[in-house]
Amino acid sequence: MSLFGEKPACPVCGSPAGGLLAVKIKGGVALCKECSYKVRMDKSMLSLQSVDEIKKHLSYREDNLRKFNSFTPSSEIKTSYSHVFKVDKSQKLWYSSIKADVIAIQTNKKTSSARW
Ligand SMILES: [Zn+2]
Repeated sequence: MSLFGEKPACPVCGSPAGGLLAVKIKGGVALCKECSYKVRMDKSMLSLQSVDEIKKHLSYREDNLRKFNSFTPSSEIKTSYSHVFKVDKSQKLWYSSIKADVIAIQTNKKTSSARW
């Protein structure tokens, strides 16, 4: 990466890559801003991923998003205030969510809160 010159191409999509906050994968190869945003992986795992593995990961996430967008719940189970389990019987899919915001934990008669 050069400070003022042309940025290298993202090995995934070919857009300009690099920058101070760029996600780096195996071999210190930097991704572009958009691919960096799409990757959802622990930093410790990123440094072990090849370009092909990142492409497979992003393809999986895009496929999963298409399934999520066509998901039509036929039944729903609320296991707690913050946890919902949904089933789409026609497509044989399931979905589970946990609100990542403040949850209430009741201890004895006092109520305290915590973050995940
Ligand atoms: Zn890219």
